[in-house]
Amino acid sequence: MRQIQAIKGIRDVLPEESVVWQHINQKARETFHTFGYQEIIIPIIEVAELFLRSIGETTDIVEKEMYVFEDRDGKKIALRPEGTASVVRSYIENNFSRTSTFSKLYYIGPMFRRERPQAGRYRQFYQIGAEVFGFDHPMIDAEMLFMIDQFFHTLNITGYELQINSIGCPLCRPGFKEALKSFFIGRLAELCENCRRRFEFNPMRILDCKSTHCHALADEAPKTLDYLCDDCLTHFNKVQDSLKSTGIQYIIKPRLVRGLDYYTRTTFEFVSGSLGAQNAVAAGGRYDTLVEEIGGPPTPALGFSIGMERLYSLFDSISVQKKPPKIFIVALGEKGQEKAFSLLNQLLREGIPSIMDYSGGSLKSQMRRADKLEVSSVLIIGEDEINKGIVTLRDMTTKTQTEIPLSEVIERLKNIKSFKSC
Ligand code: ATP
Ligand code: MG
Repeated sequence: MRQIQAIKGIRDVLPEESVVWQHINQKARETFHTFGYQEIIIPIIEVAELFLRSIGETTDIVEKEMYVFEDRDGKKIALRPEGTASVVRSYIENNFSRTSTFSKLYYIGPMFRRERPQAGRYRQFYQIGAEVFGFDHPMIDAEMLFMIDQFFHTLNITGYELQINSIGCPLCRPGFKEALKSFFIGRLAELCENCRRRFEFNPMRILDCKSTHCHALADEAPKTLDYLCDDCLTHFNKVQDSLKSTGIQYIIKPRLVRGLDYYTRTTFEFVSGSLGAQNAVAAGGRYDTLVEEIGGPPTPALGFSIGMERLYSLFDSISVQKKPPKIFIVALGEKGQEKAFSLLNQLLREGIPSIMDYSGGSLKSQMRRADKLEVSSVLIIGEDEINKGIVTLRDMTTKTQTEIPLSEVIERLKNIKSFKSC
């Protein structure tokens, strides 16, 4: 029969990788909790309008990357392409601002974008992200960057660079857009087709274009920092002062505007040379007007998200301990299997990670499988053992064997401390 394969750009995270992912998630949770964040579990589907309104209708995500389908009642539903819009929706819907002046929330989960699959770019990918609502103070921007840095530190990831910029607010942005238009109007022929369209609707997007020629042109274009209003400039300078006091290294990247419309003021990316073309491992910024645009009270806010697949590729997984089962029960013959099965049940009831190979086979072949699984010990139960009322316990590290009366096995293994931890 014809084989069914996973959808293009969508992949499985196999057990060898998933243990590492769990380790990374655990470290993220620990770090975020230390900084006072709480987890929010947001839905994978939302009404499509949420993303049109937040991310922006003339962004790549909304124009060509979103998975949208019609529900049976005709409603337009989208698979979430990112997490911020959902967290903002939830923040408003659940009246977070009534009970607290600020909120710190994080999420972990899959996102969906119909991009061209390539290294570091999938159609279903995973993000670890966080949002803060209620503070416009520049110190929180620095604290957030400090937290990401701290998280990478706990994973022993090094060699990345923090790039920051400020893209202003609704007050100073129009002046910058005009300056951009005047710069590009004489150079339209040199822009890619996409950017010629961007010129009309969203000229700032041109600065984010990945095509090499637009990229080079954008380097000469007016810089956001030269057009900031006094408040935005003061904010940006204070973000930098606070960053300096945390001791984190950073560079200012004037072209950093981000690909989503909702950002204001601070934008940032953590990039790593070892990631190749898709070099951003984490990205985010402020979005002081978004909560209001989605129908909530005026609320300054900021957030970031980290791409799990890219983070994984920067992480040295050697340091993560595998969790093989502790005990492998080798059962020989039908009677041996019955005894072994009842022993297995008792071990599992005690919480001792154990497995039994139901396909049976010779002692030698079962031992080979136990070896491959890297278990700590093997229990052997064959006819001999049953007749003598014992089991043979083989320590796989020291390669020594002892015979234990069947009635004492569980008690003995229960008391070996390392067998308990899974
Ligand atoms: P990029 O410049 O790589 O397209 P982006 O600006 O679209 O990134 P965001 O929407 O801010 O990125 O997402 C934050 C992070 O999520 C990125 O820095 C990256 O690590 C990861 N990411 C984004 N899109 C993908 C994808 N298609 N596959 C894997 N990871 C992704
Ligand atoms: Mg993108």
